[in-house]
Amino acid sequence: MKEKSENLKLFKNKKDRKPAGRRGKKFRSMFVLMFLGMTLLTVVPIVGIQLFYSSYLISNARQNRVQVLKDYGDNIAGELVNSGYLDGQISELLDTELQDFSGLYNGRAIVVNSAYEVRFDTYGVLTGHYLVTEDSVTAMTGEDKTHYYSSADKLAFTYTIRDDEGNVCGMILFYVSCADLTVTYKSINHTMMGIIVAIACILTLISYFTARKFTKPLQTMASSFNRIAEGHFDEKVELSGFTEMEQLSSAFNVMVEQLKALEDSRQEFVSNVSHELKTPLTSMKVLADSLNSQENVPVEIYQDFMHDIGSEIDRENKIINDLLSLVRMNKTESEPNITHCSINTLLENILKRVRPIADRKNVETVLESYKQVEADCDELKLTLAVTNIVENAIKYNIAGGWVQVTLDADDEYYYINIADSGIGIPEESQDKVFDRFYRVDKARSRETGGTGLGLSISKTIVEMHHGQIKVKSKVDEGTTFSIRIPLVYTSEAKE
Ligand code: ADP
Repeated sequence: MKEKSENLKLFKNKKDRKPAGRRGKKFRSMFVLMFLGMTLLTVVPIVGIQLFYSSYLISNARQNRVQVLKDYGDNIAGELVNSGYLDGQISELLDTELQDFSGLYNGRAIVVNSAYEVRFDTYGVLTGHYLVTEDSVTAMTGEDKTHYYSSADKLAFTYTIRDDEGNVCGMILFYVSCADLTVTYKSINHTMMGIIVAIACILTLISYFTARKFTKPLQTMASSFNRIAEGHFDEKVELSGFTEMEQLSSAFNVMVEQLKALEDSRQEFVSNVSHELKTPLTSMKVLADSLNSQENVPVEIYQDFMHDIGSEIDRENKIINDLLSLVRMNKTESEPNITHCSINTLLENILKRVRPIADRKNVETVLESYKQVEADCDELKLTLAVTNIVENAIKYNIAGGWVQVTLDADDEYYYINIADSGIGIPEESQDKVFDRFYRVDKARSRETGGTGLGLSISKTIVEMHHGQIKVKSKVDEGTTFSIRIPLVYTSEAKE
């Protein structure tokens, strides 16, 4: 028993723990709300108007009937006074007239004189009796009174009779049936109800389809998002009907295309990384295997192979380091460490550092500064970016060639050009040299220790400074890399 109550508690708690957002999900559905909202806003007023109009119709009809009784009273009052009917004079003509009139409305007319004596009752019941009621007393004061008895569907109207001087000298009490009015009203009401139901059905259908038209594109978009989340980057949506929907679908398709490009480049990057990292490992494996498979290998060969293995380890290390710097810089949250620095000094230091390599290759390096340039920059990163390009200019140069670095500035930007007299880059490769792992000549790049990541790192750094980098080259003539960076760094990117 105790166990049962514990379970009950558990279930109760579980229900209580239901996330608030999921409760009443149906009533947060845009479709349901739009559909119900539009239906209520259109159907309710129409039904309301119909109800108001029908009650107005019937009360108006009763009002008209009262007016008929009043008119009749006006017509007959003179005769009743002048003929002395109220004072006791017998008039069969008037009796018949009253009988006929009340018969018309399936009703009753009672003529009472100022002494409250009933002079004539079309039902014959009260003739000769006295009729002192609240209504008759009120009527004698000169006030007409109307009552509607809904249970009997009858109207009671007291008409005050006055003589030529306006003195009250009697009254006529009419009881008339309204059944004929009710029948007509009911039939009109039925027809109207039929029309209203038809209109309400049409409006409900219109509300349903309108709500569907508005919410269907959102559902289509939601299922497209789900498909993309599952990795279907070929997803496309075509929403038509409204300009906004068309704009939404084309923006969505652009976004999907960009996601696809991103995903393609991610996959390509992953496969390139695996390939690049595997290459030195394969070489090391081959070298180690060939040593292991031989007996009594001379120590010089060992040393030679171990030297090669060492170079492969260095290469692997360089690839990993380059990859790490690239990944770190590509992180969206990574902000450059900006300081105010002298670009002239920065370039002088770079050239000083690369001079031994240049000398080894017999390449002359020149720095030409047109002015002193002080600018905001991340010194370490910019040094890395320019060093990569200058080292390339030496690496891909000819013996006895030259590398010229120039620095200039205007009011807004500073410009660094790195020109060389090297082997040049073929036209079709010029767009791709900034891509990760792209190398024009894989064998040569490998020989010179390249990873194919240098220019990609340089471009990322320049863009991090909100600058631009371009390349111009001619095979066998040389290459020029041009960098343009704003003198003042602002966290908002410029064009
Ligand atoms: P790597 O490490 O191979 O040098 P980079 O990204 O620095 O990689 O350069 C990409 C490729 O662009 C190089 O492999 C090379 O083919 C070409 N390249 C870069 N700079 C020059 C240059 N100054 N002259 C000729 N080719 C160049």
